[in-house]
Amino acid sequence: MAAPRLRRATQRLFEMSAARGRPSRVYSTSHAFAEVLQLPKKQMTKLVYPLQELEQYLAPDRRSDLHLRIFDPSLEDIARADTIFTATARNRIDYLSSAVRLDHAPDLPWPEVCFIGRSNVGKSSLIKALFSLAPEVEVRVSKKPGHTKKMNFFRVGKYFTLVDMPGYGYRSPKDFVDMVEAYLKERTNLKRTFLLVDSVVGIQKTDNIAIEMCEEFALPYVMVLTKIDKSSKGHLLKQVLQIQKFVNTQTQGCFPQLFPVSAVTYSGIHLLRCFIANVTGNLD
Ligand code: GDP
Repeated sequence: MAAPRLRRATQRLFEMSAARGRPSRVYSTSHAFAEVLQLPKKQMTKLVYPLQELEQYLAPDRRSDLHLRIFDPSLEDIARADTIFTATARNRIDYLSSAVRLDHAPDLPWPEVCFIGRSNVGKSSLIKALFSLAPEVEVRVSKKPGHTKKMNFFRVGKYFTLVDMPGYGYRSPKDFVDMVEAYLKERTNLKRTFLLVDSVVGIQKTDNIAIEMCEEFALPYVMVLTKIDKSSKGHLLKQVLQIQKFVNTQTQGCFPQLFPVSAVTYSGIHLLRCFIANVTGNLD
């Protein structure tokens, strides 16, 4: 069961933090996460493991419908991932460059992850939330119609690069689809694609453009459900179950566990950072 495990891990982290004079990885590196650990258990579960919090509202015989613990890191690993996302003099987190075509993309030695989703899904807000421990990083937003949409590359220390792909929609120009397609198909250091779906409205027709691309190119991808603070528990649970069913029955390459997040309450952000750190090989 998760609760005793969570309690034991929390207690261990508290003990580590309290051990003055003894160097503790968590104590010395993740101030932000130490604050999370001070929260009452229920609040902490909601913030760190939003799917587990939702699970409590499911009838016991429906609980196996959701995949909750395929990726189930310890709090220590979550704290380590926060450290990777924390900008320091020795861990530089920067915007690197933008590109409109794959052959203009920087040639980089690190593993890479990319974020795709339709316009307005909450992609810039999510990337800003992921980078909240590096407040100097500027996540560029180009929303003006007709403004050239670009892929934006960010470097996270010596660990990985994160690419913010342009948002797509009904009126996405063909050259935009070509750009995203070429990137997804040919970027050799791409480790995982994060496909954003708005949890308020669920999977939309336009989302299928991205889902089909990922499936066609046999890419490993992950569905991130944005804006979870906007819905009631009942509505969110309904959407999550529907999307989970879609993933289970209609996809091959999608990671079976969903990642619900809120860029407003930060729910799910720590877990997502940890998953990114893991898929880029930085938690081994
Ligand atoms: P993008 O076009 O995908 O980059 O979307 P944005 O990040 O600009 O977000 C689109 C709109 O949704 C903006 O009005 C955001 O303030 C709002 N939004 C984004 N994420 C969240 C969230 O987690 N919760 C809530 N309540 N609103 C959000």
